[in-house]
Amino acid sequence: MGDLIMDKYLIEIHAHTSDVSNCADMPAKDAVKLFAENGYNGMVITDHLHSYAIRRFLKKRPNGDWDDIIDCLLEGYKIALEEAKKYPGFKVYLGCELRFDEYDNDYLVFGLSEDKLRQMKDVNKLSTLEGIKYVKSFGCTIIQAHPFRDDMAIVEPGYLDGVEVHNGHPNHDSRNDIALAWAEKFNYIKTSGSDFHGECMPNSGIYTDELPENEEELRKIIAEERFTLRLGTKKESLPQ
Ligand SMILES: [Zn+2]
Ligand SMILES: [Zn+2]
Repeated sequence: MGDLIMDKYLIEIHAHTSDVSNCADMPAKDAVKLFAENGYNGMVITDHLHSYAIRRFLKKRPNGDWDDIIDCLLEGYKIALEEAKKYPGFKVYLGCELRFDEYDNDYLVFGLSEDKLRQMKDVNKLSTLEGIKYVKSFGCTIIQAHPFRDDMAIVEPGYLDGVEVHNGHPNHDSRNDIALAWAEKFNYIKTSGSDFHGECMPNSGIYTDELPENEEELRKIIAEERFTLRLGTKKESLPQ
């Protein structure tokens, strides 16, 4: 943890919970404890919202509608929010990692609320460009996660707000160097996230001068690029 900057707030902006994301290993409860005890001041829960996850959610709620889907998506976030009460000053924010059906691209959405998610019915079914415009029409900021992993598609530049130029996931080659060059070419917001799935310590995130009170304040900090990046690459094991 030698790279922590002590006079700034450190916020994880890309984290999954095993309560919701079946690719994750750690439940929200344990994740909050881990982040709160290891130098982080807050975390955004960005569980997956894509057609595979939706199919899985609907198995739990046959004949469920979009509200049921959102209920399932929010389970990890709500547990995390409750758990955070044990760590005074530690903040949990709602986010999601959204995929439109057209490609396997993933997008981190900031400035969300439960209500906005409930209004975005079937958002995954929109084409990528329509979907990005639609999400932005809710006042959200949209950042493409790990844009140069295998199987990602390049879409017309200029619609997105930003790209994740540093993805700290230990088991994927995210080609962060290419993402950074791409972001510079198109003048995108550049973010960093651990893409935490619970297999090793978080190593990435953003440093801010203030701790945002809510999702909208955090979104503004991201949109106005009032942050610096934590660019950890270590695959440190979890405490036993
Ligand atoms: Zn995942
Ligand atoms: Zn992710």
